[in-house]
Amino acid sequence: MASSLLCAWLDLWAINIPVPAALAAVCVIGYLFGRQNRQPAGDSDSARRELKRAKAVAKELENIADVLRRDLAAHHASIARFKERVATIGGKQQQEAGWQDLCREAEDVLRPTLRLAAQISHAYDEIRQQSNHLMTFTEVRTDSLTGVSNRRALDETLESMVAMQSRYELPFSLVIFDIDHFKQINDQHGHLHGDQTLKKVAKLIDETVRETDVVFRYGGEEFVVVMPSTTLDGAMIFSDRLRARINEKLDLTVSGGVAAAQTGDVPNTLLARADAALYSSKTAGRNCVMMHDGETISGVTPPAANVSLAKTPVAAR
Ligand code: GH3
Ligand code: MG
Ligand code: MG
Repeated sequence: MASSLLCAWLDLWAINIPVPAALAAVCVIGYLFGRQNRQPAGDSDSARRELKRAKAVAKELENIADVLRRDLAAHHASIARFKERVATIGGKQQQEAGWQDLCREAEDVLRPTLRLAAQISHAYDEIRQQSNHLMTFTEVRTDSLTGVSNRRALDETLESMVAMQSRYELPFSLVIFDIDHFKQINDQHGHLHGDQTLKKVAKLIDETVRETDVVFRYGGEEFVVVMPSTTLDGAMIFSDRLRARINEKLDLTVSGGVAAAQTGDVPNTLLARADAALYSSKTAGRNCVMMHDGETISGVTPPAANVSLAKTPVAAR
């Protein structure tokens, strides 16, 4: 990859392409090569990163194209002046032929620049188109209120992660958080305040999770965090820490249900275990997190809820 980029740079340098044009070409080649070598944007998170990158490249190209446009305008002006001079000076027959040769030479010098400018403009259009596709891809997978991924993105992510888990045994876990007594928040302070609260909760969860974790709005006041390469115990520790942080930073509490992917799972069986664990957290007094290990549900003692640590049977929701 680095060597092909270097070759491209040297080729452009060798045919006397102006520096901004060469930079733009290398920028496009680098992006397209990189895109080929990267994983396709399979989930909304990687699409978001891809979109950011495409936007950065498009911006860079825009800057370079501006410089290039100025350079080309200057080239055109000097060629035009040159031609004018040729027209006025060339009086005698012999001189005329000589000047015309010179003029052709000058145009030859400019031709690769013009060709490259056209190529850059084409590449720029292509990148803009890719950005638009990615934008659409991301938009339909983003929750418009909170800005985190939506239910559709969750379904797609779980579908592919469950398949990966069964084929390669890659562990992953998830937690469902549900805001406690959210209806009261709406009733007491109004729906708009409720919306603001949802945004704050989403933002806090999104800021707190690892970079590899993905946050989804699962339903009205429910959020899911998918944690790749995380075991049930690890997910439990993290989720309870997140619960405590929400309680500490915002004037509300949440309950959580944790489950880890198991062989034979489909998205719905995994979500059903997490949901059952969440239900146990609610019945245990809220402001706590429970986990479902496939057979039983257990949790840690919440500071406020004061529930028993004893393992409880799976509760159907
Ligand atoms: P629990 O502790 O048992 O979870 O009680 P709860 O009040 O949180 O649960 P319930 O399911 O009774 O109420 C959920 C509320 O969430 C009711 C609904 O109006 C509200 N809600 C759902 N989506 C939105 C939304 O987008 N904005 C606002 N402001 N409220 C919403
Ligand atoms: Mg709910
Ligand atoms: Mg609730």
